Amino acid sequence: MSAYDETCIFCKIAAGEFDTEFVATSENVVAFNDIAPVAPVHILIVPKEHVVSANDLGPEHGNLWQQILEVAQHAAQTAGVADSGYRLVTNAGAGAGQEVMHLHVHLLGGGPLGGIVTTKNKG
Ligand code: 5GP
Ligand code: ZN
Repeated sequence: MSAYDETCIFCKIAAGEFDTEFVATSENVVAFNDIAPVAPVHILIVPKEHVVSANDLGPEHGNLWQQILEVAQHAAQTAGVADSGYRLVTNAGAGAGQEVMHLHVHLLGGGPLGGIVTTKNKG
């Protein structure tokens, strides 16, 4: 594990530089609340290593995707949505709406989520 990007906000958060409260953690992954939630529960699951997106995950990352899923499952339990249901979404690339170029999975739940395709900007 390496790859810390000093210009990356999620590298800094994952490293604990902002004393962010983590909903769940594991050796290589953290989960914390989104700063601008779009659902009653909106958690971001983030690897500590700087990987840009799901498109950049490869064999060199071992089972990191599985580790992300396990922290997502734990976060869903902690947030109380494991039984009611939740959605996991990851945006890969600007065309998908990715704004923070450090791999993250959105965990959304706690209320009606609408259709699978959503847009943040309604203008
Ligand atoms: P993306 O559009 O890249 O898939 O999602 C990025 C998400 O990160 C957005 O939902 C945005 O609200 C969230 N976000 C951006 N900066 C911060 C931050 O500094 N702290 C937290 N907790 N969330 C952030
Ligand atoms: Zn990063």
